[in-house]
Amino acid sequence: TSASEPRRLALLGATGSIGTQTLEVVRLFPDRFDVRVLTCRQNVERLAAQVQEFRPECVAVGSAESAEAFKKTLPADAPDVRVLVGTEGLCEAATRSDVDVVLGAVVGFAGLRPILRAVRAGKQVALANKETLVVGGALVTQAVADGGGQLLPVDSEHSAIFQCLAGESERAVEELVLTASGGPFWDRPADTFGDITVEEALDHPNWSMGAKITVDSATMMNKGLEVIEAKWLFDVPVDRIQVLVHPQSIVHSMVSFADGAVKAQLGVPDMKVPIQYALSYPSRWPASHERLDWDELSRLDFERPDLEKFPCLRLAYDALEAGGTAPALLNAANEAAVGRFLEGQLGFLDIPRAVERVLEQLPVQASPTLDDLVAADTEARRRVEELPLPTSN
Ligand code: NAD
Ligand code: MG
Repeated sequence: TSASEPRRLALLGATGSIGTQTLEVVRLFPDRFDVRVLTCRQNVERLAAQVQEFRPECVAVGSAESAEAFKKTLPADAPDVRVLVGTEGLCEAATRSDVDVVLGAVVGFAGLRPILRAVRAGKQVALANKETLVVGGALVTQAVADGGGQLLPVDSEHSAIFQCLAGESERAVEELVLTASGGPFWDRPADTFGDITVEEALDHPNWSMGAKITVDSATMMNKGLEVIEAKWLFDVPVDRIQVLVHPQSIVHSMVSFADGAVKAQLGVPDMKVPIQYALSYPSRWPASHERLDWDELSRLDFERPDLEKFPCLRLAYDALEAGGTAPALLNAANEAAVGRFLEGQLGFLDIPRAVERVLEQLPVQASPTLDDLVAADTEARRRVEELPLPTSN
């Protein structure tokens, strides 16, 4: 499509944190987008309101019950909309012929199949759903090559690196430096981690995000997942991907080059900026997102991460090195453990324990197919679901 034609968008995970912020960007540029598809798992009230406003051709929801509830929620005079259901519905929605760009903002492993199908179909895919690359990075990158589409990062660190790499040759890259906020517990004494409550873990200092990624930020598993995500997006070996804790979240990430130069991308922490860049690329569209205030910015701090205090980061590096199904096992164990933590069934320290245990117990399979990844995911989850409730921390 030419630059002046609106981008026909499928937004997967429209009702979440990234989904709603994507629609805020769409609102800023009503002539540049044509929203064709919106999806969610079960928040049908929000989806119905979005359908009223953005008038997509098609929606997809997680279950038949949600489909029924959605139809009941829509007012009688609402525009006609096709309702698809389940994983197959999500895949169909992501590959429709009237869609140019797919924004993947589903949380977790559930995003893998639709994104694989979208890249295979040659769609431009703006990807927030990092778990897709963590689990299926090899399959997804192969499918991008086969499908002839493009994968654009939405995650703020990867958007920063992508922007730093613009105009550079691959050979000139020495190291990727992912910055991390450190989350709410960076300064908290390690011997009190057993007392961390769900409420404390959900209180992130710099970013407002969905519950799962907020807990991942508190354990620093989020940064571990992002190291794996960076490996697949930028094809850089693991020993050249570093993490630095930067509590202000102003430097979104950096790249150092063969001549000693370092490029960084800065800005206020606002996901609308990387979301918009993934959708406007290779252009930049003028927008009044909040600007950095140089009078308020007194300092930028950088520290090495503490892998003893935050073992999830180490586990993610180990899984990336082990390769094959290891990152899928890591991801599934983490998703299950975070789910049980949010339900009050596991303590904060049980999250890294559960992940470590699954990685010790289950064999790693090299060069997995999609079916192998699904089997690894299922088995890792089952192991974590079986863990006994904690007697005490
Ligand atoms: P969220 O929980 O706020 O939203 C998730 C969305 O996915 C919702 O629309 C939900 O209905 C849908 N969904 C959930 N489970 C599903 C399933 N099984 N099948 C189909 N749809 C399902 O999550 P979020 O914070 O928006 O994060 C989305 C993704 O973006 C995650 O992978 C996260 O790691 C990544 N990400 C988020 C942020 C952020 O600021 N929130 C930043 C960087 C990356
Ligand atoms: Mg990030």
